[in-house]
Amino acid sequence: MSDAETLNHTTCTIREVRWDQPSLPCDRCQQPAHRIGTATRTASDVDLDASVLLAVTISVHRCAACGHTFRAPPPFLRPDAIYRNRVVTAAVRSVFQDGMAVRRVATRLARDCWVRPSEGMIRRWCTEYSASLDFATDYLPWVVGECSGILCVDEVYQGQLAVLLAVDPVAPEGDRLVGYQRFRGSVDQEEVATLLAGLRAAGIDPAEVIADGAARYPRALAWVWPTAAHQRCLCHEARRVTSAVGQIIVRPFRTSRPGGRASCAGGHGPARPPRWSRTPPPGLGGGDRISGRRN
Ligand SMILES: [Zn+2]
Repeated sequence: MSDAETLNHTTCTIREVRWDQPSLPCDRCQQPAHRIGTATRTASDVDLDASVLLAVTISVHRCAACGHTFRAPPPFLRPDAIYRNRVVTAAVRSVFQDGMAVRRVATRLARDCWVRPSEGMIRRWCTEYSASLDFATDYLPWVVGECSGILCVDEVYQGQLAVLLAVDPVAPEGDRLVGYQRFRGSVDQEEVATLLAGLRAAGIDPAEVIADGAARYPRALAWVWPTAAHQRCLCHEARRVTSAVGQIIVRPFRTSRPGGRASCAGGHGPARPPRWSRTPPPGLGGGDRISGRRN
């Protein structure tokens, strides 16, 4: 197979753009710097019909005051970027506004816009975007003003990392993050109170707070928001019911096996959890721990 046969060919539209300025302020000393020539940059752009490559002619400037030579920066192209700014905007919006997983954004952009940045590149754009936001001044005042008055508080565990988070469950887009705090190990009552007190200080004053049946919540909630109603999470309550039903279903099944304990079928003797449940039902013991996701 020749080298030519191993290449993929794609129809591409080339658009020529000029960003040619007679003079610009020096990017070091701000003195006027006149054009001494031109250079060319290339960048991918989004398009609905075909792959588009921009061929951008830019002016090159030399500052007489400090001797610095620099290229004119087009406003639609970041320094050293190979994608136009609106490609970055489309990728970031896919993640932060549409809720897409980062790994799926490249496929979407390739299908709809004829560009396919790498997953690593998209993650870098998202990191830069999130770093540009100040949670305390940009996000928190907005989320406080928009709070519905209902708050869900829960934890997520992954190994030794625990994240305690509070969300508004009736925001138009679904669960809206109101606040969170990371811990190592388990979350106790004092740590719950610390997060909630921080939200109260920010202006959150819910009428109702929903949490699971863990013992770490009632006193912390009563201390921070004494007038708020404390609602048990229906999913956690439903899990207790299904676990109890599972024990009832498994018990006669076990007695029907050879060597089964007949005394359990009639309700006598100690109730034992089904074999497929090695942890106590949530809310009934030390197994009230959520792993990997919030319920
Ligand atoms: Zn200069």
